[in-house]
Amino acid sequence: MTGLLDAYRAGVQAVLCAAEEAAAAIRARHDAGGIRQQAAAEALEAFSVAFQCEALPEPRTPVLEALRAIRSEPGDEGEIPCPECSGRLRWARDPGNGHVWGKCESDGCLAWMM
Ligand SMILES: [Zn+2]
Repeated sequence: MTGLLDAYRAGVQAVLCAAEEAAAAIRARHDAGGIRQQAAAEALEAFSVAFQCEALPEPRTPVLEALRAIRSEPGDEGEIPCPECSGRLRWARDPGNGHVWGKCESDGCLAWMM
């Protein structure tokens, strides 16, 4: 099964490389400034990004999700919905070094100290 998955990932990478190479080739053409050429290159690049997100998803990392949510929160402490259990996750940011501490109210759920 691992071999199959590796082959799948290699195939996906090959498609992504082909799309990016095609986009680069269009952008390298002397008429690359044309509306159609630009649209084609942008479409290929967007396809590559979207396909990568769909076909090669990153493993879920709830702590990373929580940190992203906290980054947009004002102040030095607060509460966000826990990305793992939807409970309350308390967080605090050290105003000195910016380190973020977080702990979910649920036992055994997310807790970290950065
Ligand atoms: Zn939780």
